[in-house]
Amino acid sequence: MKNYKTLFFDVDDTLLDFGAAEKIALQLLFAEQNIPHTPEMEAKYQGINQSHWKRFEQGELDRDEVVNTRFSILFNDYEKEVDGTLLEKKYRSYLEQGNQLVNGAFELITELQSDYDLYVVTNGVSKTQYKRLLDSGLYPLFKGIFVSEDTGFQKPMKEFFDYVFARIPHFEVEQALIIGDSLSADIKGGELAGLDTCWFNPKMKPNHSNINPTYQIHKLEELKQIVTEKMGAY
Ligand SMILES: [Mg+2]
Repeated sequence: MKNYKTLFFDVDDTLLDFGAAEKIALQLLFAEQNIPHTPEMEAKYQGINQSHWKRFEQGELDRDEVVNTRFSILFNDYEKEVDGTLLEKKYRSYLEQGNQLVNGAFELITELQSDYDLYVVTNGVSKTQYKRLLDSGLYPLFKGIFVSEDTGFQKPMKEFFDYVFARIPHFEVEQALIIGDSLSADIKGGELAGLDTCWFNPKMKPNHSNINPTYQIHKLEELKQIVTEKMGAY
């Protein structure tokens, strides 16, 4: 019978409410560009952005290609020629300010950090993720932060997890669990790396993929039961 010792947490939409930060950042960016922030515009941006990050997960685009072209493609559709890299920079400065916590995240992490080794595993831009983690108060509760940009790989790539595991003293994969909201990045990544996985699915989305999480939770606090039951069973 095993006992979890190391817990890996995704950040966006697992601990920090990325949707809230993104919405505000887009509003500010569009206002600055004198483009009305309509639901249609937002949906268009989401379509471009999601397909870009999916291609990033599949290794088709690198990070710079993802972030530096998403706004030029979007504004092109509105016959507005913009410098994608410059707009990305502005957007990022707005996004960095977003550190709204997911419900129960701070309480959960505070409670778990005395009994478990907690690590962040996040795909994203290093400077942004560090700032948001610091401003939210979560940063000091983690033993380590691993951002894809610094590792040269990203979830779900096995190389990303190899990089992480190699930097944790006395790491045992059998005693580790990854918690995240993304089936394609967090849960698939955990599977490839040989970890137990916990899918945080607050909107109760159906799982039409062939990815099978070890556990599924709808509220963050449910995680406590999973890890402490394991402890009790030991
Ligand atoms: Mg996420």
